[in-house]
Amino acid sequence: MQHPLIQHLLDRLLAGGNLTEDEGRALAALGPGQTTALLFAAHAVMKHRGRTPFTCSITNAKSGTCSQDCAFCAQSGHYATGSPTHPLLPLEELVARGLAMHAAGARCYSLVTSGLRLSDDETDRVCACVRELRTRTDLCLSASLGLLSPEHARRLAEAGLTRYHHNLETARSHFPAICTTHEYDQDIETILLAKEHGLQVCSGGILGLGESWEQRIELAATLRELGVDTVPLNFLNPIPGTPLGDMELLTPHDALKSVALFRLMLPGADITVAGGREKVLGDYQSWLPLAGANGMMIGNYLTTMGRDLAADLRMLEQGAWI
Ligand code: SF4
Repeated sequence: MQHPLIQHLLDRLLAGGNLTEDEGRALAALGPGQTTALLFAAHAVMKHRGRTPFTCSITNAKSGTCSQDCAFCAQSGHYATGSPTHPLLPLEELVARGLAMHAAGARCYSLVTSGLRLSDDETDRVCACVRELRTRTDLCLSASLGLLSPEHARRLAEAGLTRYHHNLETARSHFPAICTTHEYDQDIETILLAKEHGLQVCSGGILGLGESWEQRIELAATLRELGVDTVPLNFLNPIPGTPLGDMELLTPHDALKSVALFRLMLPGADITVAGGREKVLGDYQSWLPLAGANGMMIGNYLTTMGRDLAADLRMLEQGAWI
């Protein structure tokens, strides 16, 4: 028999309602015996709200030597991780990578740069890439360039950018344990600026940074309040040399339960699973749609390799999106 709390809240979500933060916390507190029911509820909500499968891809357009001290990040200049460093790639290379991902089946292509923010000149080069890909493909074009200024947001929107990616990374209450070099409110401000300029917003975080279940719900509630369109969920893949290099991996159970909770808290958003899924979920990756995720990042991540592209596309084709 369905757990009465799950059934009650599922009925409300299927009727178009939302959960409160307290209700999200109550679901998170249910024991492992209820996890399968939570996954089924999340799946039902995903289908009911018409969230269709999509794929996105990223390219590491500028890598390493970042001034920020995010405790999980291979690209922070504060830690010796041996991660590759390079300035912003030439325009032709950025365009060629976009065309290749388009040909491989990605619906969305995102240019990702390290650092707190881009210079004017770098922003203009990203805009040139966006213009070129906009005329040559029907890709959803995204960029993740750190903090935005109003002027940079305007230029990117005018160039034809579809969406801006800026992760909050974790809950506000956990952020000081993860990053001390900028404020959570600066990240929120960037999301609001992107929205003001008509860009869709892709914003999520990394799970497994030592946050509690309550803090996962807190992050989900903040993202819902901000009205983000897409929520990328990463699982920490600990990088030697960073402060979180020895952190234990999430278990597949906790990872899938977390995805389900984000779906239930954000019923109308696209939920994409990105970095760390191979390492944390292994053979359980095909359970992601069951947990309510409707998007998947394909290809490689910023500093770690993704699963074989053909295997991911085969998984999509073979009806993982039941
Ligand atoms: S997550 Fe972004 S801002 Fe933080 S250290 Fe890495 S590249 Fe810099």
